[in-house]
Amino acid sequence: MELSRRITVLPEEVASKIAAGEVIERPSSIVKELLENAVDAGATDIAIDLRGGGKEAIRIADNGTGIGTQDVAVAFERHATSKILTVEDLYGIRSFGFRGEALPSIAAVSRVEMVTRRRGDVEGTRIVVENGGVLAVEAAGCPEGTTITVSRIFDSLPVRRTFLRQDATEQGHCLDIIVRVLLPHGRVRAKVTAGARTLLEVPRTEILRDRIVLLLGSDLRNHLVPVEGAGAGMSLSGFVSKPDFTRSSTRSMFFYVNGRYVRDVVLSQAVMNAYRNLLEARKYPACAVFVEVPSDTIDVNVHPAKLEVRFRRPQDVRELIQRGLAEALSGVRPTAGAPPVTGMSRWQAAPGRTGAAEALRRYSLSAGIAAARPLPSAGPMEDVPDFGPDPGGDLFTQGAHAQKPLTFSSLDYLGQVDGTYLVFAAAGVMILLDQHAAHERILYEMLKASKGSGLEVQSLLIPEVLEMSPGDFQRLTASRELMREAGIEVEAFGENTAVVKSVPALLGDTDVRALVGEILDGISDSGIPQDEKRNRIFIRMACRGAIKACQPLATEEVKRLCRDLDSIPFASNCPHGRPVFIELPATVIERMFKRT
Ligand code: ADP
Ligand code: MG
Repeated sequence: MELSRRITVLPEEVASKIAAGEVIERPSSIVKELLENAVDAGATDIAIDLRGGGKEAIRIADNGTGIGTQDVAVAFERHATSKILTVEDLYGIRSFGFRGEALPSIAAVSRVEMVTRRRGDVEGTRIVVENGGVLAVEAAGCPEGTTITVSRIFDSLPVRRTFLRQDATEQGHCLDIIVRVLLPHGRVRAKVTAGARTLLEVPRTEILRDRIVLLLGSDLRNHLVPVEGAGAGMSLSGFVSKPDFTRSSTRSMFFYVNGRYVRDVVLSQAVMNAYRNLLEARKYPACAVFVEVPSDTIDVNVHPAKLEVRFRRPQDVRELIQRGLAEALSGVRPTAGAPPVTGMSRWQAAPGRTGAAEALRRYSLSAGIAAARPLPSAGPMEDVPDFGPDPGGDLFTQGAHAQKPLTFSSLDYLGQVDGTYLVFAAAGVMILLDQHAAHERILYEMLKASKGSGLEVQSLLIPEVLEMSPGDFQRLTASRELMREAGIEVEAFGENTAVVKSVPALLGDTDVRALVGEILDGISDSGIPQDEKRNRIFIRMACRGAIKACQPLATEEVKRLCRDLDSIPFASNCPHGRPVFIELPATVIERMFKRT
């Protein structure tokens, strides 16, 4: 390149394409901006049609406020917005938009046709803008609200077009964005189509739990716990998945700050920390976490697509989330089966069936008569959710189907399978419990709670003498203090030899030599922070001390295990993240027997 070239201000057309490139990366960016505009305009009904995965054309129709005739062309100018007037307004911002960049950016890289009529106006307006230039503005008859059709997307930017993926992939991106924009807006009903095919239908939903299940997957229905919290002028609400539900990516983790969807490491790390020792490696929860912070403590204007925010006091936000989630997750217990819809199950409600004894008596008298009875007509299967009229806001209610947690001690113990799994029954549910995982979590929580002090220690009658490699000996002496805190008393005993004098009583007569070896393996990396080393020691000890699989248990021991489980937090998973118990709701058993 010639170095002596003069500096020139770029022509408007080039400048706007460059600016558009930041905001409009792919079709889903267009969908995001248009959908956000519709929500900002107070729309309660939104129809989205995607052609060619959004690459060919995108149409979004809303019943929002519409735009007055004299404002229509202005809306396509850069930095034209109705949402803020001053820089200060930026801080109190609740709307999605504020930069006034979306419409001009979209119009700079495609053809946009907008028909819009302001509520109460007698006539609407139609405008066509292509590659930044207004082609037509005219009066038009149209319903109240706004319909925008975007086509010839990136025709003027052929390079950008080559970066787009297959239709299905782009369509997936569009749907992802639609889900995350609509999730917090229970008053909005939406339908997404690809021509004649319906891709997604979102009814109005007053109950946040229902909205989440609708949008993130019905497999989540029975695996959500509410979270809440407040502190330092902030508040926390939403739902997170129980540790028995995991995904192998972070795709189902949703965060909203002051109503705005964000991707943020502060938030996602806080959530992952709360799940520490509850999930297996590389497993992620699903969550919809809403954080409200004073508007002067965040900056929303730090990312082109407004996907990131900056917190003034990230530590406060982190603590709020970790505390709220810890509280929610620590209480996860088995739950009674969903109550029968009509007060009685279909089986109980069926006429002519009055209990097992009666049925057996009848059967022994005459199987023929019983079989000849007309089949009972099925009762109402399920309440059809009534989403009701527009509640006029996004105030979600908690919903009635919060499930009641049960204590382990209240379950009926039925027996042991394979010397390992304990079988229990409760109303509407059967529960399997892994005795080793359960005991492991109990010991781990006890160790953690003791923090080294108050831990009952047993002196070894015959101290265990350990001869070891110089490296191991070195590591052992370096970790002596940590070990002592965990109730393991070790002393140097000559060259490369150590002697273990006592271990915590809860370990019973464990193989001390193996335990110390495992601990040293787990903490030998010098990069591990002290806190994590302590944690790993506790996990090792819990694993060693816990009842093994293939070990018969007396009923008394099972009762003790249940009582202990009731008294500790995080009883749902062992410290490695495996489940402690599994629920088999009667509805699932019913299906196994092909009764439904
Ligand atoms: P921003 O959303 O940042 O204000 P946009 O370029 O997205 O900027 O939109 C410009 C303006 O056009 C908005 O401030 C709003 O007044 C108006 N507008 C855009 N879309 C709609 C819509 N669907 N319904 C009503 N008004 C809209
Ligand atoms: Mg906008």
